[in-house]
Amino acid sequence: MSILNADLHCHSIVSDGTLTPEELASRAAANGVELWALTDHDEIGGQHRAAAAAHANGMQYLTGTEISVTFASETVHIVGLGFDPDDAAMLQGLDDTRGGRGARAREMAEQLAKVGIKDAYEGALKFVGNPKLISRTHFARFLVEAGHCKDTSEVFRRYLTEGKPGYVEHRWASLKDAVQWITRAGGVAVIAHPGRYKFSANEEFALFSEFKAHGGRGVEVVTGSHTAAEYVRYAETAKEFGLAASRGSDFHSPGESHTDLGRLPYLPGGLTPVWDLLADRIL
Ligand code: AMP
Ligand code: MN
Ligand code: MN
Ligand code: MN
Repeated sequence: MSILNADLHCHSIVSDGTLTPEELASRAAANGVELWALTDHDEIGGQHRAAAAAHANGMQYLTGTEISVTFASETVHIVGLGFDPDDAAMLQGLDDTRGGRGARAREMAEQLAKVGIKDAYEGALKFVGNPKLISRTHFARFLVEAGHCKDTSEVFRRYLTEGKPGYVEHRWASLKDAVQWITRAGGVAVIAHPGRYKFSANEEFALFSEFKAHGGRGVEVVTGSHTAAEYVRYAETAKEFGLAASRGSDFHSPGESHTDLGRLPYLPGGLTPVWDLLADRIL
């Protein structure tokens, strides 16, 4: 079942995407997606809408989210798939994870004001679809609109990444909690875009080992964040750790994302697709 146009990673206005779950569903279907998951950051408020929209567009659906985790002082993202979207412990855990975002955003705005960028908090808020989820992406869109940078990648490079004036250190969920919320709600936990983390070989080994020990079962191999060389590299890592492989564009917005929904190479052969572990969770 490797040859399936599954797109199991993207974002709507419920987190930091610019399209509604319904708009994403019709775009995914138009691009040939057969199995879809909406994976908003730290938030599952769009899941019932997304499942209904998937069915209205003739696609199968897996529930999804992307949880922010702090591991070895870095931010790591853990995708959850196929969980019960009404699970109380998961809802509470995600609510706690989102909790610090408001204060963090105000601090980011204070720091940006010191380098001459005024009213960034109010500016970012204009781009926020869900008041509980203000993210760096919303600040990036405001800085582009206000003419400070030409696109959001430039904003991240100049202002919003470690060591830059608008970057605020933040503590997210623990790896163990994130994996357990997902698995106890009946889902499968997946390490998102491992090629993006700035880990040493030892730290990366620790991430995969601890993730497995906590019950994690999958890794993204084909994602919009990976190069072709990273598809090969993480296919090997998946085999080495006995993890299933996932595939997802990480689409956020037509103007910003270079990989569109469903427009990715298929999973390489010789891997267990993560959807094979979730056959009874597909809606
Ligand atoms: P946050 O969860 O508020 O820290 O925001 C993280 C989000 O910022 C990610 O999910 C991406 O959507 C976006 N992001 C992070 N780094 C970059 C980058 N270099 N260029 C564009 N977007 C980025
Ligand atoms: Mn994002
Ligand atoms: Mn991510
Ligand atoms: Mn993402």
